[in-house]
Order: sequence, then structure tokens, then C-alpha cells
Amino acid sequence: MPPKTALVWFRRTLRLDDNEALCTALEENERIVPVFVLDPVILSRPDTGARRVAFLYDGLHALDAALRERGSYLVLQHGDPAEELGRLARETGATALYYSQEYEPAGRARDVRVTAALGLESHACLDHLLSEPGSVKTKTGTPYTVFTPYFRAWQEQAFAVPRSAPERIATPLGIATDPLPTGSAALPAGETAARAQLTAFRHTALSHYDTGREFPAEPGTSQLSAYLKFGMLSPRRALEATRQQPKSAGRDAWIRQLAWRDFYYQILWHFPHVATGCFKPQFDALAWHNDEAFFAAWQRGETGYPFIDAALRQLAQTGTMHNRARMAVASFLTKDLLCDWRLGENYFMQQLLDGDQAANNGGWQWAAGTGTDAQPYFRIFNPVSQGEKFDPEGDYVKRWCPELKPIPSKWVHKPWELSVNEQAAVHCVLGRDYPSRIVEHSEQRTKALALYKSLNCG
Ligand SMILES: Cc1cc2nc3c(=O)[nH]c(=O)nc-3n(C[C@H](O)[C@H](O)[C@H](O)COP(=O)(O)OP(=O)(O)OC[C@H]3O[C@@H](n4cnc5c(N)ncnc54)[C@H](O)[C@@H]3O)c2cc1C
Repeated sequence: MPPKTALVWFRRTLRLDDNEALCTALEENERIVPVFVLDPVILSRPDTGARRVAFLYDGLHALDAALRERGSYLVLQHGDPAEELGRLARETGATALYYSQEYEPAGRARDVRVTAALGLESHACLDHLLSEPGSVKTKTGTPYTVFTPYFRAWQEQAFAVPRSAPERIATPLGIATDPLPTGSAALPAGETAARAQLTAFRHTALSHYDTGREFPAEPGTSQLSAYLKFGMLSPRRALEATRQQPKSAGRDAWIRQLAWRDFYYQILWHFPHVATGCFKPQFDALAWHNDEAFFAAWQRGETGYPFIDAALRQLAQTGTMHNRARMAVASFLTKDLLCDWRLGENYFMQQLLDGDQAANNGGWQWAAGTGTDAQPYFRIFNPVSQGEKFDPEGDYVKRWCPELKPIPSKWVHKPWELSVNEQAAVHCVLGRDYPSRIVEHSEQRTKALALYKSLNCG
């Protein structure tokens, strides 16, 4: 009898620690083949950002190194997963397939197609989220569409205890593999880097995360999103490590963010129409203006609103943006520039290192007022007071818009209130050194309210 062999198909859970698919495969088989298939269809999608591809490539190197330490290695193939996995199963005599469950519509459709084509015994495991969509439901059995009651029910769940990485992994020798591509992402990839970041965050910012998380100039958040997105960090491990810290308002607030992550995944799972349309379909009729020049100025960080411009320049230069700034720029694009939230959503996916369909779509629809327990459309962020409140000294703005450095803090979020002579005296003249405002907030606010109101959506 040949040894019982299984394929472990890595996609996003790029780790050995607390990898349910891997652990289960090892328990139920004598040897496994760890495989990653680089699918040209995904790589060429317009929303596949180059930064994430580089980070993925680095992550594959880290995964391969971790496998080699345990006597195994990563088999990399290029092509259609159904064909590549089928060929590998025939070559190795594998009779089963293990993978971490996917929740995005495209990933789900691919998995249905691939598993049907392979005809192997297939096991989809819970690795990417803390709770499976559908496991947290209202008393009447429907999915939650409002976060606060979802969170209450989510907290009642008994989450699985994270499992350690296996010590040895038996893999058949000599399987042909393509060379691993080179990435060179700005952020160190892989589970060791992810765990180091988690440890650093637990010991520095976690206890005061509830207040520290609001200020984009400060390192007050975990900066774990890209690791969670690619499964280089297990959410179960992150939760367990956090719960080991003394109870604090910061700790509770951070755990709540992990629940937001699950929440938006379960929205995408139960209501896949959000991938292309408004969660509340009545908003699909909104007559967005979609002014191309406005959208281009927004992308370049040249709207003339310092807090907005700083955030968008940070995004373009680094692929990251603070949550507070994401909310502000999303509100600005939709409510001040009257551009469709999908333009911003797509641009974020192209730029963000942590670009994640569920969280990104949820965030954009929240800001546009078209989503689940959205902030009502009539609550519109003021780009000046957001800056004054969350960047009081203008440190964030001056970091990303250095031409504003000479402007005194009092005016740094509204430099147009300085007279032309005052601007000239500090060598920052609007329209010459820094853009003039492309719109006037209070006027646009009135237009946005009229636009939304015309739908009679309450
Ligand atoms: C318009 C908009 C777009 C967004 N796009 C993305 C995206 O593409 N990918 C992404 O991971 N997050 C997205 N977010 C959520 C949030 O901004 C980021 O998760 C956060 O800024 C990442 O920084 P951090 O890891 O330091 O987060 P922390 O504040 O330390 O939070 C811990 C973790 O919780 C999760 N989380 C936090 N806030 C949210 C949230 N609102 N929704 C879902 N999960 C959350 C993330 O995985 C994050 O790493 C978006 C928010 C908005 C308003």
C-alpha cells in the first residue's frame, strides 16, 4: 500500500502556526504535499495590487523556509489550480485535499470549481476568521446586519484554542517545483515577522489602544492587518495573545476590531451582492457626479484639504493608511466630491498592502452611508475638524505634505484662512506651493444631502 498522501493547498493561510488545514491533514495522512498555485487570472486582476503581490512572494519564501526546517518544502506551480493540483495528485498518489476556507465570492467560486474538477476528498478548514460566517446568527436564524448586536453574540462564542506548528512534516521527495518569485516588499513578510509585530504591539500600545488608535501621527495601532490578510498571523493566536494581557479598555477595544473583521466577512458571505452593489440596494440609484478631475486630484492628494491630502499621499507612497484617515478620505470622496464609493474602493485595492475585499468594501460602504449599520448619510465628516481633532499639532499633515511645515499649527488644517501676505511670509502660498481647495466643504455638504435625499431612503 502506498503511504496515504494529501495535498495541502496554501492560498492565504501562509503560516505553519495554528494552521487547522495543515494539522488536520497531518493527522489524517502519512505524508502531505504543501502546494501554492500562482494563478495568472488572479495576478492580472485590476484590483490585485503590486505591493500585495510582492508581499505574497516574500511570504512564500518565508513559508518555504519554515517548511524546510521541518523536513518539507513548498511546491510552487504556475497555472490554473484545478489543472496543477490534478497533475500533482496523480504524480504523488494524493487522495485528499486540505485548505483553509475562503469567503470572498471569487475565491468561493474557484474552490467549488477546483474541488469538483479534482474529485478528491476535500476538507475546508476554519483558519482565516475567528468565527465561521453563519455560526453567529440572530435568534430567528438570520445573519446580523448591525455590528453591536453581532459583537455581543460573537463574544459569547468559544473560540478554538490555537494549535502549535507541527514539528516534522513528511513530504515525498523530488516533486518538481517552479522557482519562488522574488518580492522585496517594504514590510517584512512571514509568520516570524508577524509574531514579532504582535509581541511588540502587546507590550507597547495595546493597553491604551482605545485612545491611541485615533491619532494617525502616532504608532497607536497594531499594524497587523497585512499579516492577518495573508494569514501570516492566525486571528486565534492574536486573540489568545491579547487575552493573556491584563484586562484594559485598550485590550477590549482591540478585540472589538477583530470582531469587525469577522463581521464584514460574514456580510460578504451572506450578502455577496455587496461586492458590486450597495448593501442597501435602494442606494444603487444614487446619481454620483464622478468628476474625473476631482477623482484624480483626490488620488494625487491635491484636494487642498491637508488632512485628506496627507492620507492619500501616505497611501500612494507606502501602501498604508491609518483607519481614521481612511474614514475621512472615504467620506470626502463620496460626500464632498460626490464620486461613487466603488472608485475609491477599487483605488484602495490597487494601493493597499492590507487590501482586503471584505474590510475594504465594508469600510467604503460605511463611509458612503450605503452599507450595514452605516453612519446615516446625513452625518458627513468635516475634513478640517477631523484634522484638528485627530492631528492637533499637524504632525501627520506635515509629515506627508512637507510644504505645509512652515504653517503654524493653528492654521495647518485650514491654510486658506491665512491672508496671501501671511502665506507669502511663511513661503507657503496656496495655488503655488500647496493646492488651493478644489471644493468648498459646506457647499458640497449641501449638494450631497440633496443627492441622497432625492432617493427618499430615510
Ligand atoms: C474606507 C476603509 C477601507 C478599509 N480597507 C481595509 C482593507 O482593505 N483591509 C483591512 O484589513 N482593513 C481595512 N479597513 C479597516 C482598518 O482601517 C484597517 O484594518 C486598519 O487601519 C489596519 O491597521 P491596524 O492593523 O493597525 O489595525 P488595528 O487598529 O490594530 O486593528 C486590528 C485588526 O482588526 C482588523 N480591523 C480593524 N478595523 C477594522 C475594520 N473597520 N473593519 C475590518 N477589520 C478591521 C484588522 O485586521 C486590523 O489589523 C478599512 C477601513 C475603511 C474606513
